[in-house]
Amino acid sequence: LQDKLDKALHTLKGKGQITEINVAETIKEVRRALVDADVSYKVAKDFTDTVKKKALGSDVLTSLNPSQLMVKIVHDELTELMGGKQADLNIEANPAIILIAGLQGSGKTTFSGKLANYLKTSKNKKVLLVAGDVYRPAAINQLQVLGEQIGVDVFADLENKNPVEIAQNALAQAKQNGNNVVIIDTAGRLAIDEQMMDEIRRVHQTVNPTETLFVVDSMTGQDAVNTAKAFNDVLNYNGVVLTKLDGDTRGGAALTIRTVVDKPIKFISTGEKMEALDIFYPERMADRILGMGDVVSLVERAQAQFDEEEAKRLQKKIAKNSFDFDDFLKQIQQIKRMGNMKDLIGMIPGAGKALKDVEINDDAFKGVEAIIKSMTPKERKNPNIIDNSRKKRIAAGSGTTLQEVNQLLKQFSEMGKMMKFMNSSQGKSMMESMAK
Ligand code: GDP
Ligand code: MG
Repeated sequence: LQDKLDKALHTLKGKGQITEINVAETIKEVRRALVDADVSYKVAKDFTDTVKKKALGSDVLTSLNPSQLMVKIVHDELTELMGGKQADLNIEANPAIILIAGLQGSGKTTFSGKLANYLKTSKNKKVLLVAGDVYRPAAINQLQVLGEQIGVDVFADLENKNPVEIAQNALAQAKQNGNNVVIIDTAGRLAIDEQMMDEIRRVHQTVNPTETLFVVDSMTGQDAVNTAKAFNDVLNYNGVVLTKLDGDTRGGAALTIRTVVDKPIKFISTGEKMEALDIFYPERMADRILGMGDVVSLVERAQAQFDEEEAKRLQKKIAKNSFDFDDFLKQIQQIKRMGNMKDLIGMIPGAGKALKDVEINDDAFKGVEAIIKSMTPKERKNPNIIDNSRKKRIAAGSGTTLQEVNQLLKQFSEMGKMMKFMNSSQGKSMMESMAK
């Protein structure tokens, strides 16, 4: 029978609405998953609050069960949080000047090469790469090697230690040579540092770039967010480049950066090869994060667990024909929290269809709690003993009318009939057919 019930439940999942109870569980799990993925607690909380609002009261489409719908809502919200649409690189100016900023080791030089390669091959641009890291001769050499590899000119001046002058000289050469994109690679430090910030600020002021891109290592987690903010305060950059997404990072920093600095992520870097550069598509990133399994499986697990437990508990009660007014009261309290009677009915195995014809009036439940609370424990367990004098006492005690007490008793007995029916061979065969 359990098997059949499971199948019936599964069928029922496609009906009704998402309820507060299953959402609350799921939301908690999603939030935990996001925090585990390096999303800051505040961002995760804001995010799950939005998801919760959207999830509650959204009708389950026929083709989706509630857990699938939850995943869809989470996915859509993630996409939205990461900017919704893909943000283009502005390379209209001639020459377009792109300034690359970020901490040491974040991947600036590698990205500069990749971007040059991309603009050359996909946008047909004549690119000039500028070696602006004056502190490490090896960094200049690194850019020259990359330039040679992709067939792009590199401006370098090993004698000059002034990055502002280097940038100015490079721009002059670009104009002379007819380069239409100039990419300026800069020096970073291991941590945010006054001198580095001052230097990049001066380069920024001097060259007045068309695009300033902030490069950040996605593996640095929460630190990435602080760095993103510090650089944004100084440069007010146009976009973010997330590197090293080929590692086992869950990329949660992407979400937080996006919300904290409100700048689009424009590119992601997924390897050391020059081809490993991708335009950032918010939707694909959401796919990626969800596809990494944790969020999706957590959503589904939480959902399944709730359904199973609830179904098992009710199934036992129904099988024993012992569903009484105490259970009813619990259900009503849940209904009040959910605000939707049909949700509850949908959770009772097999009840969705069976109860369709039984009239259920939400208004009739207004005084119901009061009525049940006015019953003695004995009366709740065994409603048959409620005679007229008991009814009068209950009505008076609950501040309702005799008519309302009668109505509740009638509804309860109808529910009982339905449950008896479900346990009969006829009911079982009906559920069997529903499960197919
Ligand atoms: P910079 O100091 O900011 O210029 O950083 P580099 O471009 O020199 O990169 C630092 C290290 O990270 C180098 O070993 C790169 O090969 C490596 N790197 C850069 N981008 C990526 C990436 O997307 N994935 C991986 N796995 N490694 C990267
Ligand atoms: Mg470098």
